[in-house]
Amino acid sequence: MSYDRVREADPAVADALEGERERQENTLAMIASENHVSEAVLEAQSSELTNKYAEGYPGERYYAGCENADTVEELAIERAKELWGAEHVNVQPHSGTQANMGVYLAVLEPGDRILSLDLTHGGHLSHGHPANFAGQIYDVEQYEVDPDTGYVDYEGLREMAEAFDPDIVVSGYSAYPREVDFERVQAAAEAVDAYHLADIAHITGLVAAGVHESPVGVADFVTGSTHKTIRAGRGGIIMCDAEYADDVDSAVFPGSQGGPLMHNVAGKAVGFEEALQPEFDRYAQQVVDNARALGERLQEHGFALVSGGTDTHLVLVDLRDSHPDTPGGVAEEALEAVGIVLNKNTVPGETRSAFNPSGIRAGTPALTTRGFDEDACRRVADVIARVVDSPDDESVKAEAAAEVEELCSEFPLYDREGAITDFE
Ligand SMILES: *Cc1c(COP(=O)(O)O)cnc(C)c1O
Repeated sequence: MSYDRVREADPAVADALEGERERQENTLAMIASENHVSEAVLEAQSSELTNKYAEGYPGERYYAGCENADTVEELAIERAKELWGAEHVNVQPHSGTQANMGVYLAVLEPGDRILSLDLTHGGHLSHGHPANFAGQIYDVEQYEVDPDTGYVDYEGLREMAEAFDPDIVVSGYSAYPREVDFERVQAAAEAVDAYHLADIAHITGLVAAGVHESPVGVADFVTGSTHKTIRAGRGGIIMCDAEYADDVDSAVFPGSQGGPLMHNVAGKAVGFEEALQPEFDRYAQQVVDNARALGERLQEHGFALVSGGTDTHLVLVDLRDSHPDTPGGVAEEALEAVGIVLNKNTVPGETRSAFNPSGIRAGTPALTTRGFDEDACRRVADVIARVVDSPDDESVKAEAAAEVEELCSEFPLYDREGAITDFE
């Protein structure tokens, strides 16, 4: 795709778009929620469906001319059902946050109680943080991870559920390096007659590929973002049993959204089709293998990982013991300067603050899309270690930047040589 027409109409935006393409090509995207979609998904997302109003659902729209929108949405739904095995799927949420809003609106009243994981322990804003609508509309209590193990404190969760009597228990997290025991959360929710929402935003791809146990059929509701590990068009998704279908659908539209972003729904359909191919299962397994290799090498360099390792696509590094004078933000900035883009992150038992946290979070979904294997991830870990050990040393950073440049040209974006998924 070229931006020739944007350039003609609007050179300033064309510069930024080309700048972004170059940035993605020439840096390592290690923000754990990010990925690189295929050119097919990009094309679908830039289609004329952006012009179409399709309020309602396939076969029951409020406007004329929806036959192609219907086809695209039905395909997205069908493929999602095949990927995750849900009875009912809604592919219209504009984002993962909107998907969660859809579930809350479907089954909660204002003032009802949500039990969810604390944000600084790996939870998400939309699970009830005071700065988010969910924290403002509902009464929220939060469970934590065990400070010694870094694993979800399931026993604490169960006790809190008994004491707090929540209407819904939320599982599924943003910065949690271990596989989630959805059955155990379900048992705790069931014991107090609460719904269970499993938010698999980060691990949609790992669940679809069978690398992680699925909460579909266990939890009452499963939500996700569609642009993270599943690598489809940008947005959200809700899955549930048929009995909740009408409540969920009307909570999304007209409850909380207007017209669906049909061009993004097209991107979801195309990405889901790609994820149904056998290559995708290998991709998802490689994502986890890569995170493990990255984490083990970082440990060899003296870094401490929350929970002592990873079962997922990410590692959460607690810098406090190994680098007491290097907060996460300093590490993030030094790494960005050499072309490694990841984020500072709170760690369980945070002793600094949410704005100045003590950890960094690093994910492998986007690197794996570029074709990175375990060896390449170990090289990345070596670079991260050198830079975080000496964040102010310009000669170390110059050497690190050269190594990142080499990795980027060895594993080019959108050049399929060595890539796990053939996007052509
Ligand atoms: C990323 C994420 C979401 C939703 O994010 P959007 O940016 O709104 O798509 C929801 N829950 C969790 C746990 C997440 O990590």
